[in-house]
Amino acid sequence: MRAETGCAVRGWQVRSPGADIGRAMSRATMRVPRPAPGELLVAVDACGVCRTDLHVSAGDLPVHRPSVVPGHEVVGHVLELGDGVTRFRPGDRVGVAWLRETCGHCRFCLSGAENLCPGSRYTGWDADGGYADCTTVRADFAYTLPDGYSPAELAPLLCAGIIGYRALRRAELPAGGRLGVYGFGASAHLTAQVALARGATVHVFTRSPRARELALDLGAASAGDARDAPPEPLDAAVLFAPAGGLVPVALRALERGGTLAVAGIHLTEIPPLDYDRDLFQERTLRSVTSNTRTDGRELLAFAAEHRLRVSVTPYPMARAAAALTDLAADRVDGAAVLLP
Ligand SMILES: [Zn+2]
Ligand SMILES: [Zn+2]
Repeated sequence: MRAETGCAVRGWQVRSPGADIGRAMSRATMRVPRPAPGELLVAVDACGVCRTDLHVSAGDLPVHRPSVVPGHEVVGHVLELGDGVTRFRPGDRVGVAWLRETCGHCRFCLSGAENLCPGSRYTGWDADGGYADCTTVRADFAYTLPDGYSPAELAPLLCAGIIGYRALRRAELPAGGRLGVYGFGASAHLTAQVALARGATVHVFTRSPRARELALDLGAASAGDARDAPPEPLDAAVLFAPAGGLVPVALRALERGGTLAVAGIHLTEIPPLDYDRDLFQERTLRSVTSNTRTDGRELLAFAAEHRLRVSVTPYPMARAAAALTDLAADRVDGAAVLLP
């Protein structure tokens, strides 16, 4: 039953987080959530499947809310306004992303670094997300979305796009510089397009032959295997693959003074670094933690100005577990998106 027509919503809950991804989630029928003051009730039109959902389901991330509904790349339309909401109207198209709320008064929130707020909470981890017919979002954390894209194309922008955008900023790629992209899934293929539109030379490293094809098609200067040496030294690199073993590989590919940003929320173990070979000559290694709302608005404004090509593999919402299993097995081209 759809949210509009009754008192129940269908969705998926992570009931048994663990290595068996196919069984971590179960289908469930839930009560329609009520929008609290300041919140929107949103009908889900599309929800992207992010690698973080995999980490929530696999138990790589600790359980924050038992039986959570995953999903934090939600494109939907407003069904109902909580008390006090003036920015949106019923029927408006909105985006719901990973960063759900921050405290608003700590030193990080007050200094433009709300992504580091110790009180931050996350959609599809601390609160129920978009693997369902509807969800809620705080109006001040909901995004207005650019025209000219379908819901399925917009969904991956909301985490893959935004986090990649922040990672690119953290990598401090100089104007016209040479960027290395390690891993080429949903986030990387969007980030590469942002860098290319800004005049960068992009070199892609991935074990997937089809992803290498996509990279070249999008305008990458080269596309090699994950551990290949770049054809030229890199001014900056972003590691999208959750593979700690690639950290020294990417560091060694950097030009003197270059920066490697690690985009993921979870990374396998990093092997010991050799100071002289991997870090000396002022190479910099940085992490990327979530994003600020400013990052989100900037990426969505960029998408409004430059028509990004969003590579999507659609799945019906009823096949969410299969989508996660396929993502775990690297069988998804571009971004997997669930459609109700
Ligand atoms: Zn805060
Ligand atoms: Zn995500």
